[in-house]
Amino acid sequence: MCYAIPGKIVSISGHKAVIDYFGEKKSAFADCSINIGDYVYAQGGVVVDKIRKVDAKKILSFWKNKFLELEQRDNELAKKIKGSDSFEAIFSKIQNGKPLNRNDVNTILHANPYANGKNVKALRSFANVLRKKKLKNSCCVHGIIEFSNYCRMNCAYCGIRSGAEIKRYRMSEHEIILAAEGAVKLGFKAIVLQSGEDYFYTKEMLTRIVKKIKRMRVLICLSLGERDIKLYKALYNVGAKAVLLRFETSNKELYKRIRPGKRLMDRIALIKKLQKIGYLVSTGFLIGLTGENKDDLIGNIMLSKKLKPDVYSFGPYIETNPNIKCNASLNTCLNTISFVRVLDNNAKILVTTALETLSPQAKKLGLLAGGNSLMIDVTPEKYARFYSLYPGKFMETEKKIKETISLLNSLGRAPIDLGR
Ligand code: SAH
Repeated sequence: MCYAIPGKIVSISGHKAVIDYFGEKKSAFADCSINIGDYVYAQGGVVVDKIRKVDAKKILSFWKNKFLELEQRDNELAKKIKGSDSFEAIFSKIQNGKPLNRNDVNTILHANPYANGKNVKALRSFANVLRKKKLKNSCCVHGIIEFSNYCRMNCAYCGIRSGAEIKRYRMSEHEIILAAEGAVKLGFKAIVLQSGEDYFYTKEMLTRIVKKIKRMRVLICLSLGERDIKLYKALYNVGAKAVLLRFETSNKELYKRIRPGKRLMDRIALIKKLQKIGYLVSTGFLIGLTGENKDDLIGNIMLSKKLKPDVYSFGPYIETNPNIKCNASLNTCLNTISFVRVLDNNAKILVTTALETLSPQAKKLGLLAGGNSLMIDVTPEKYARFYSLYPGKFMETEKKIKETISLLNSLGRAPIDLGR
């Protein structure tokens, strides 16, 4: 697949490098030895690989025309559609840096295509124009390996909670390495290692795994839940540079109910500690949990923004527990993407796989609503069926990759790193 384009280093200052991609400049963190003029791959704002000039030139000559074609397509698609006067008044408040009141926020978040068809289009197009203005047509695609569905936690929303009666699996170290190698062969330059909170995988095991995957010259993102900070520190030191850890909900009472025995403040403290270590942190929340009040969505968005995530990751709760009904509509999720884009113009916003289960159109709509980052499940198929965080998740890898690339082509999105 190779959905990644190399760029040329044009300046370096300490660990910060500026990379040029066909005239677009993106900054990235570099802890390897690089010089001005080198060609590199970066992912999530981290230089992950250096490649020979001749190889880079070959790849770039293929992409040059294609890139212009994609850019043009994105320009055609990202056009502002005008909304009603009241919506346009809110947009101009935002553009002029004026604060929104609660009414404005509710108007945006709860706009629906039936009552506010024209305004919903206006909101999505406004967010899409902002995405293009700030981050151009770059789009990141990460591969995720779900290596264990054992979990010591019993989070009420989660399909792999300890109390769920599902077939459990653990991939061996060897299987994880093989899966990562497979993903790298398919062209992935960023690998997410995800599991339940599974203490079977010790610091020593995870260190070995990270070290081996690091040699494949990819960005390694960990999604292991609340493990010891010393473990995270050790894994950072051997090459993991990103973490995905959602706070799930900003409502601390609801948090206590859905994550028994846990406190929101501890989760947030861990997120901050991970940032302090130097990890790129992706965080966010579930949309539409039973027990939420009307203001929780706003609270979730505000808490996300306050945490200054490198990537926003939020998506609908998909029902896995009859006691927790799903109240998320596709429309609310898309409005949330647009709203986050409008609030934080430079945001990297993941269009989550959970959103994709709501509609075959969801991924496309999410990318057109302000999203610019995707994940593809590359877990070996014999295990992927059992990583049932929520129903409707499983699809064959090759098919997913083909579909995603053709979608990104049709939307004019290019595999240029989103930068830092
Ligand atoms: N154990 C780790 C990682 C696995 S869960 C952790 O807790 O961080 C990864 C994410 O999947 C969670 O953060 C949660 O937001 C999401 N998730 C879990 N169950 C879900 C469901 N039923 N619907 C949608 N997303 C879900």
